[in-house]
Amino acid sequence: MLRLNNIHKKFNHLEVLKGISLEVSQGEVVAIIGPSGSGKSTLLRCLNRLEVIDQGTIEIEGEILATEDTEGKCQYVSEQKAREICFKMGMVFQQFNLFPHMTVIDNIIEAPMLVKGIKKDIIIPEAEELLKKVGLFEKKDSYPSRLSGGQKQRVAIARALAMKPDIMLFDEPTSALDPELTGEVLKAMRQLALEHMTMIVVTHEMAFAREVAQRVIFMDNGDIVEEGTPEQIFNNPQQPRTQAFLKSML
Ligand code: ATP
Ligand code: MG
Repeated sequence: MLRLNNIHKKFNHLEVLKGISLEVSQGEVVAIIGPSGSGKSTLLRCLNRLEVIDQGTIEIEGEILATEDTEGKCQYVSEQKAREICFKMGMVFQQFNLFPHMTVIDNIIEAPMLVKGIKKDIIIPEAEELLKKVGLFEKKDSYPSRLSGGQKQRVAIARALAMKPDIMLFDEPTSALDPELTGEVLKAMRQLALEHMTMIVVTHEMAFAREVAQRVIFMDNGDIVEEGTPEQIFNNPQQPRTQAFLKSML
């Protein structure tokens, strides 16, 4: 469960998030769509503290990450506590960010060993299981440079899952890929959704959002303009800005 209340974020004088409130329940898949520059990535980055919010409350799995003090100033919990809370979330970016000097399996076991102190003989079978799940077991000893973009992204997904997150955040995971490689990544994500992983997916893949998401959020200019079921948003959008955006995506 993730709860955001009235999140504000500025870069200098540019207000990029203008009071975002959002709740995502356990097992829910939420797609965030919207034009370039609307604040989608910033919103995801605020969730796991890659960006610091100016105002508002962030609650993750029942724990407060940031909230406002009596003067309305944003206060984060202690560094240690914030790290613990953020480990509940895995993130997959547009650029895969694999460690180039490590094999696929080493990429996956690095964080669980280093951050969680899990022993190698315990994490290796888990990592192999995850690689099977994303269809890349046979690549476990390859280096990232030998993989296609779609394969790299599937390793990135397995790597995030190795930390056993409660929530997965995806920021346009297929938009750096050649069209013929997006399907295999979307398939891995669809599988996760079927397993009831809580997912927030920023995407331009409208077909995927329509099929996999339970809820679609349209953001524009730092605000949530409209949200609803895929059916509501794609077939019967109410707001002119949503209508115009969807038209532009055709
Ligand atoms: P896209 O679809 O192109 O990825 P987005 O919806 O993810 O767009 P953001 O990346 O969240 O948009 O950016 C929102 C706004 O914040 C943009 O105007 C962007 O230029 C600005 N911005 C983002 N990061 C920074 C930063 N670190 N410093 C200053 N401005 C930033
Ligand atoms: Mg973005």
